[in-house]
Amino acid sequence: MHRIAPTLLLALASLSLSSPARAIASPPPPTEDWCAAIGKRLGSVPPPVCRSLGLQAATVTSARGHALMSRDIAPPTRKIAQAGKAPARARRILLIGGIHGDELTSASIVFRWLQWLDDANSEARQYHWRVIPVANPDGLLNNPPQRVNSHGVDLNRNFPTTDWNSDAHAYWAKKTGRDPRRFPGQSANSETETRWLREQIESFQPDVVVSVHAPFGILDYDGPAHQPRRFGHLNLNRLGIYPGSLGNYGGIAKNLPVITIELPNATSMPPPREQREIWDDMLTWLRRNIASKTTS
Ligand SMILES: [Zn+2]
Repeated sequence: MHRIAPTLLLALASLSLSSPARAIASPPPPTEDWCAAIGKRLGSVPPPVCRSLGLQAATVTSARGHALMSRDIAPPTRKIAQAGKAPARARRILLIGGIHGDELTSASIVFRWLQWLDDANSEARQYHWRVIPVANPDGLLNNPPQRVNSHGVDLNRNFPTTDWNSDAHAYWAKKTGRDPRRFPGQSANSETETRWLREQIESFQPDVVVSVHAPFGILDYDGPAHQPRRFGHLNLNRLGIYPGSLGNYGGIAKNLPVITIELPNATSMPPPREQREIWDDMLTWLRRNIASKTTS
C-alpha cells in the first residue's frame, strides 16, 4: 500500500476545497466519444469531420447512453432581412437520418449534406435547418447494426399516429408475421428516441420533414404540398401508410409535408454525383413548394 505524505494530503484537500473542477478531471464532451464511435461505424464520417459539424447533445440519451445529437443552422441574417421590414420567419426543414440503425447510408448522407450546409452561400441557407444525422444511435452502433433500438422497437412504427392503438399491433401480427424488426413497441411513443423526435417537431415547428432511409431506391411522400416526382434517380413510389410511422404521424396527424428518401443501398453510398443530384432536386422542390408560401 502506498503511503502518502501528510503534506501532500493537505495540499490535495485544499486543492479540492478551493478548486474542485481542477481536482477532478471533467468528462469529455459527448461529441468526443460519440464522434469516435460514429467514425468507426461510418467510413465516410471521420471523427474530425464529425466533431467539426457543431452537433449538440440533447439532455436525454438513448437507453445505452448514446447522445441524441442535432444541429440547428439558421440562415445568415442578410438572407431573410427585407429592406424596411422585420425579417420574415425563415422556412424550417427538419432533416433526419438513421432512424433505422442498419441503414448506414441514411446517416452518412445526412452527415454529407450537413457539411454542405456549412457553406453560407448555398441556396439551402435561406432555410432554417435542424439536422439529426443519427436518430437511432443504439441501432447504428450495435454490433452488428440493427434496424430497431436497444429495446427491440422499430422507431418508425412507434410514433403516436391516430391509428396506432387500433392498428399497430394488428398490422404487426398480420402483415409482418410478428417480424421482430418491425415491432411497434408496447405502446405508442414508448421510446425515448421517438419522444425526442416528436419534441423536435413540436419545438422546431418545421415546414417540412425529410427522413432518409434505405434500400428501396425510391421517394415517398405524405402530407399537404405538391408531391415531389423525382430526386436524382429516385422516383416517387408511394409505399402506403403504416401505423406509427413518421410519415403517417407528420403527414397525416400533423398535416406536415414529410418526404421520405429511400436510398438504393443501405451500406454503400450513392456516387458523389447522385448525392448532389438528390440534394439539388430537393432544394428545387423546396424552392417551388415551400419557399414561396406566405408567412402566417
Ligand atoms: Zn428505414
